[in-house]
Amino acid sequence: MGRFFTVNTLLESMSENSNQSRITCSIPLDTEGMHQGDLMLRYSDNAQPLGYYPIPVTVMKNGEGPTALLLGGVHGDEFEGPAALMRLIQHLNLEQVSGRLIILPALNKPAIDASTRVSPLDQVNMNRAFPGDNNGTPTQMLAHYIEQVLMPICDMVIDLHAGGKASVFSSCTLVSRSQNQHLFKNSLDLAGAFGLPLVWLLGEFNDDRSVNAAALRNEIPMIAAELGGGGGNDPVQTDIAENGVRRCLSSTGILNDKAVEDDNRSAAASRLVEIRSPSQNLYAPVCGLLDRRFQAGEEVAKGQLAGFVYPSGQSWTAPVKLRFPASGLVLAHGNRGHVAHGDMLAMVANDVQLA
Ligand SMILES: [Zn+2]
Repeated sequence: MGRFFTVNTLLESMSENSNQSRITCSIPLDTEGMHQGDLMLRYSDNAQPLGYYPIPVTVMKNGEGPTALLLGGVHGDEFEGPAALMRLIQHLNLEQVSGRLIILPALNKPAIDASTRVSPLDQVNMNRAFPGDNNGTPTQMLAHYIEQVLMPICDMVIDLHAGGKASVFSSCTLVSRSQNQHLFKNSLDLAGAFGLPLVWLLGEFNDDRSVNAAALRNEIPMIAAELGGGGGNDPVQTDIAENGVRRCLSSTGILNDKAVEDDNRSAAASRLVEIRSPSQNLYAPVCGLLDRRFQAGEEVAKGQLAGFVYPSGQSWTAPVKLRFPASGLVLAHGNRGHVAHGDMLAMVANDVQLA
């Protein structure tokens, strides 16, 4: 007897296939050992008509235990996270692992190669591309693979960011609020283990097209991190990222790490902040030369002088005076000397007390 399909099962099978990723992984995800290879992203454009765009992936699997997904390079001009993950790939031994690590240090590799926030292949921002599209542009295809293929087999996610060329953050971890208190607590515990004293809680004003939102939909504990910024590679921030990831992996039992035992960390997550409204942020009201009078990490008051913008090419024109629209902590400042009307100049966050 041949296999009998009803119309419904046929339609179900077609719709399952229609959501299947077109990306293949050149290494096994389930086999014991350390494996290194590529996610093979086939898009068929002029540069790669019949080949693929390689996205580097390392899998370390040793026995039973949880799976951690470690991401860097979601944005291509943020290098501290990728550098920290490359250190781990070079220095961790398989014997230290109990479970599995899936490490993607340069997830949006075309953007990393170009040193740009968005991918040069499609101009898409990966952290606004989730849940992605298996039939979409390269960045959308990658986002779909992460949310639909990798996250469902993972128990935790760490996504390392920095301010990139456009901004500088007061270094912090990011945790999504959730109605699922167990999930929320596990994510806060990861932030505690990472070790930065500042935690930015993501709520209703944050984008549902991010890696954080994808982890929330998969109900997996997750932290992101914002590690300074400027678009270079700050060794202090790379150290913070490497040590933070090691501590998270140790706290969840995936890594047996002597380096963590020797770590005399003094700062645990101790301050939680949120952005109550986008209107609390300071944006450039005109184009021109910015004379900034504050830094990320400073406490500011509503109405306090933030700086001046000198309109371009008009030395005879009085500058536009900038004042903070709200009191709070400057979570990030813009990093541009010449600003356009609408540029983010300061993100102002406020303290949160959890019940
Ligand atoms: Zn980023």
